[in-house]
Amino acid sequence: MNSRVKEAVRYLGYGRHAVDKKTERLVRDSFEELDRIAKGRIVYRIFELNISDDGRVKIGELHITSKNLAKNMRGCRRAVLLGATLGIEVDMLMKRYSLTEMARAVVLQACGAAMLEEYLDEWQQEYEKEALKEGFYLRPRFSPGYGDFDISCQEDILRMLDAAKKIGLTITDGHMLTPTKSVTAVIGMSKEKVFCHKKGCEECRKADCIYRR
Ligand code: SF4
Repeated sequence: MNSRVKEAVRYLGYGRHAVDKKTERLVRDSFEELDRIAKGRIVYRIFELNISDDGRVKIGELHITSKNLAKNMRGCRRAVLLGATLGIEVDMLMKRYSLTEMARAVVLQACGAAMLEEYLDEWQQEYEKEALKEGFYLRPRFSPGYGDFDISCQEDILRMLDAAKKIGLTITDGHMLTPTKSVTAVIGMSKEKVFCHKKGCEECRKADCIYRR
């Protein structure tokens, strides 16, 4: 099983239990379909970053109160704000299957989530090289809604990125991103040599890291 299939199977909730052949086939088929129609797009901008002693984070003109984020970004001077999406075609496909073949729609949801992560990981790996040329090291991606980072910040992030115009990424009144297979995130940039795990602190083995969220 390759890593994207494993990830989708994990999203489907199989955990350590073996997945049956039929589901695994469905996962592989869904990825093939997604590879054909998904249009990954990303918009990002770099902002100055300030963190106050009481845990308030200021990224450009965006004020965030989040102890988790403040801890994770401690020592950083800049931050990347980003928005990314797999595009509206993925939503249309999921909608179609939800009317005709629910099992496939559920698998497609999981594969879409895994694909979005994979897309961001690949982008981040490339961007890491760019940042390093200026002497910056990247902390893990941190998305609104995670820990005490308020999900309502997504709206400000999209506005600061002009994401609707640039990549067609918008938000509903209920804080749902549209297209649904989309994400917003912030990434701290520090001059300190910290090599973060691409999957974030949850997968990182540096147990004594003072920036662990
Ligand atoms: S725990 Fe690992 S991934 Fe998290 S901030 Fe520390 S080094 Fe980076």
